[in-house]
Amino acid sequence: MDCIFCKIIKKEEPAEIVYENENFIVIKDIKPKAPVHLLVIPKTHIFSLKDIKEKDKELMGELILTSQKVASQKKLKGYKLLINVGREGGQIIDHLHLHLLAKDINNKF
Ligand code: AMP
Ligand code: ZN
Repeated sequence: MDCIFCKIIKKEEPAEIVYENENFIVIKDIKPKAPVHLLVIPKTHIFSLKDIKEKDKELMGELILTSQKVASQKKLKGYKLLINVGREGGQIIDHLHLHLLAKDINNKF
């Protein structure tokens, strides 16, 4: 499958990896729209939030917890979490991901 995020997960394409665990990879966005702009990406290829099913409940909880963990590791005092859903919702890459946006008050990035 020709998916840039799957390639990054498989280390076939470069990315600045900030955090990784069994189920997620967190990278810096290549075109940051805020001083801190990270993408929290499940390693499973799910196209969009539209495709989430009952069986994905645990993964979606982990998505939020992983975001919280990275934000806390980087000592971010406040941040925004955003998921673009569908082309009309601004989704360009068809592999589910969550944007973590913040000001860089601690110069950690
Ligand atoms: P979305 O519009 O929600 O699909 O977001 C896709 C995001 O992925 C955009 O903010 C892009 O800047 C970012 N992006 C695209 N390609 C890469 C890449 N190779 N490495 C890191 N971020 C990327
Ligand atoms: Zn993918």
